[in-house]
Amino acid sequence: MSEKKLPVSSQRMQELAQEYPTPFHLYDEQGIRMQARAFREAFSWVPGFKNYYAVKACPNPAILQIMKEEGFGADCSSLPELILANEAGMSNEDLMFTSNDTPPEEFKAAYDLGAVINLDDISHIRTLQMAAGMPSLISFRYNPGPDRTGNAIIGNPVEAKYGVTTQQLLSAYAQARDAGATRFALHTMVASNELDGSYIVETARMLFAQTIRLHRELGIRLEFVNMGGGIGIPYQVDQDAMDLNQVSAGIKELYDEMIVPAGLDPLNIVFECGRMVTGPFGYLVTRVRHVTEKYKQYVGLDASMANLMRPALYGAYHHITVVGKEDQKPTECYDVTGSLCENNDKFAIDRKLPPVEPNDIVVIHDTGAHGHAMGFNYNAKLRSAEYLLESNGSVRMIRRAETIDDLFATLHW
Ligand SMILES: *Cc1c(COP(=O)(O)O)cnc(C)c1O
Repeated sequence: MSEKKLPVSSQRMQELAQEYPTPFHLYDEQGIRMQARAFREAFSWVPGFKNYYAVKACPNPAILQIMKEEGFGADCSSLPELILANEAGMSNEDLMFTSNDTPPEEFKAAYDLGAVINLDDISHIRTLQMAAGMPSLISFRYNPGPDRTGNAIIGNPVEAKYGVTTQQLLSAYAQARDAGATRFALHTMVASNELDGSYIVETARMLFAQTIRLHRELGIRLEFVNMGGGIGIPYQVDQDAMDLNQVSAGIKELYDEMIVPAGLDPLNIVFECGRMVTGPFGYLVTRVRHVTEKYKQYVGLDASMANLMRPALYGAYHHITVVGKEDQKPTECYDVTGSLCENNDKFAIDRKLPPVEPNDIVVIHDTGAHGHAMGFNYNAKLRSAEYLLESNGSVRMIRRAETIDDLFATLHW
């Protein structure tokens, strides 16, 4: 069971919605910090453990600053993401550059920043050399293909556009070494929003096996394996968060079984999780505009899928709290919608809620990852502000809302 509580009292939430124009995303700094610490604590047996926070989850400098303070790095997939992380004080090997279909100039920028470059394809060795040169440390993204099935969300690895195949892997490292690389790492990402910890443990088994293979076949000793992201969060009330201590213990067992006897200890283990770090600590705060009755009952919010696309895009469940009515019985059944001219602009379908009235404050949970970040401007909707609920209880704007001028800024009239 996951508790879906507000980060402040209902009364305070109502005040915040009065003080700041809705809709807006609110991030709970303390929750994020506790989560980051729990992650590090779970892997304290790994001396160089680091999570490279996936910037795409919540690309805001204030969030990245917190990540930096908690000892995390940043996983970037584009030049702007590299710039954001760099501005937050992360540099060199605190930056992981895991891109795909990468333009050469972004390889150059990553190289110049001293980021760890994680190549998505064997042909990119050449692209990187032409664009910038071969860095001393190089990583490859591994796609196990038919040797492993991805989880339901990320799909079958054979269909995935990412990574170097099992067959290409040895050649990739040999080529990189010939090109001057002297330090090596191995990455994979075969799950997304996974709540079953055994999946993560199996990912470690797969990477450890390739670590041993690279050593046996090429004499290459990896510095670290990068488990990617993909640890899920309990969006549904009846789901449980992944037990990180159990996952860590499972990985340690495999480490002692596989890596230590192969003489490959120490091998560092890192992750690139975004969702599990900030996802549960974001809240989309909205106000009810209309409650309407057609063939069904509808609650129309002042937010739309421009603020949170996951329900419309994936049919994803996001828990909803009607502020001040937490203790009332969910006697009604509503579709909770936005204002886009798209019928899939719904935050929830057939959701049981207490009776909702115009002007009620409705909070949508778990928007701290892939929430604001996926925002878009379809129907000329403006993206909302973001606020940080600081550990001391004060609230700070960390991104203002877009204005019509922002929207028009790129137009030639
Ligand atoms: C999206 C992504 C991540 C982060 O995934 P989460 O679900 O946020 O943990 C990490 N690495 C890569 C390469 C990604 O594409």
